[in-house]
Amino acid sequence: MKFENLNLIEPILKALAQEGYKTPSPIQEQAIPHALEGKDILGCAQTGTGKTAAFAIPIIQKIHVQGSKGSKRQVQSLILTPTRELAVQIEESFRSYGRYTNLKYCSIFGGVSQSPQTEKLRRGVDVLVATPGRLNDLINQRQVNLSNVSMFVLDEADRMLDMGFINDVKKIISCIPKKRQTLFFSATMPKEITELVNSILVDPVKVAVTPVSSTVDKIEQYVYFVDKGNKKKLLVHLLNNKDIDSALVFTRTKHEADKVEKDLTANKIAAQAIHGDKSQSARQMALNNFKTGKIRVLVATDIAARGIDIDELSHVINYNLPNISETYVHRIGRTGRAGLGGTSISFCEYEEKEYLKSIQKLIKKIIPTAEENPYPMLITSVLPKTDKPQRAKVAKKTEAELSWKNKSSKKKDSYSVNKKKDSSKKSYSKYASEKYQ
Ligand code: AMP
Repeated sequence: MKFENLNLIEPILKALAQEGYKTPSPIQEQAIPHALEGKDILGCAQTGTGKTAAFAIPIIQKIHVQGSKGSKRQVQSLILTPTRELAVQIEESFRSYGRYTNLKYCSIFGGVSQSPQTEKLRRGVDVLVATPGRLNDLINQRQVNLSNVSMFVLDEADRMLDMGFINDVKKIISCIPKKRQTLFFSATMPKEITELVNSILVDPVKVAVTPVSSTVDKIEQYVYFVDKGNKKKLLVHLLNNKDIDSALVFTRTKHEADKVEKDLTANKIAAQAIHGDKSQSARQMALNNFKTGKIRVLVATDIAARGIDIDELSHVINYNLPNISETYVHRIGRTGRAGLGGTSISFCEYEEKEYLKSIQKLIKKIIPTAEENPYPMLITSVLPKTDKPQRAKVAKKTEAELSWKNKSSKKKDSYSVNKKKDSSKKSYSKYASEKYQ
């Protein structure tokens, strides 16, 4: 399938060629023809699948073909998205795909002065990309007219729910005409989202794409078996290797993201964290610093990272393994984009071994264990906590072996040496790894 087969107009085909897009992604192939026909769409897809172009291309084409009504441009399409980062990225995508049309775009979001946004609206726009909070403010102030909206996109609906925006969203929907086309995107379909779908979509075409698993093959993957308490040291050790050009480090919690940022900064590794508790401007600044190379490491939670679009990312590091295997696929799909290679490194502590198992089942491959691990998991952590006698016995043996090793090598601290030089640790690590695989 080619873009030419989707009945797209020349200015869009030209822009897509310039973007370097050769073939439509599955969601584009499935959604664009229906969207051009004016059908409602229910898309089950996440960032990374090409969903932005799947809704942006038909919107640009329809507005370009129909032309603007009246002397002043009116908002004909409204795109609601949960975060400022996404709003900016979506507007950028519209500008790229529509560069050979003369449509006008505007994105509005909170955390910045509203006057440049209202000024743009006053001059007239065709496509408005907005986050719910700021849009509601502007609706209340009568700064925006949505009475001509005929194409409405609700992007990342489940995330709107997560972030507590669902009532704002419903309020906005009540302000746009009932007679319209709705394109609805959500990665998951919790109950509240299904209810919303049923109330705002009319006979939708359902389009679902499996996440990025195909890209997984292009990515080199490694796992380090490491004790929880040593993850910090292992991360610093790895990032001291300058071969890692840029790394997105995933943590499970916001608190952990902050801690990792602090640890790295204390070790003179330029890093910033983004998560839901950070202000929009702090998040945007961290993202810009990362994109421009000011910082080499961005630490993020899954929710905060979901909308981030970074084309050239050399490494993804899973500081914690996710408990949902698909999340692993999404995380590592951040690297290896645009035909470039990528590496994914996962830290697996004892409690995460079940997560690793399910991830390997999903991706249908065993993730190789990293060979050079200066902080291998110690054998005691592999034994069940309840097996106290055995743990004590092994711990004693470990101590004895290590002290023998220390004496024989005349080294004081053998706990922090490289695995290659420490045969006793090597065997523990090997044992730990084997237990996991
Ligand atoms: P999205 O899921 O919309 O966030 O898109 C993810 C990434 O895929 C973006 O960097 C897009 O530029 C890129 N992309 C979208 N569609 C295509 C395509 N048909 N071919 C190649 N790259 C694409």
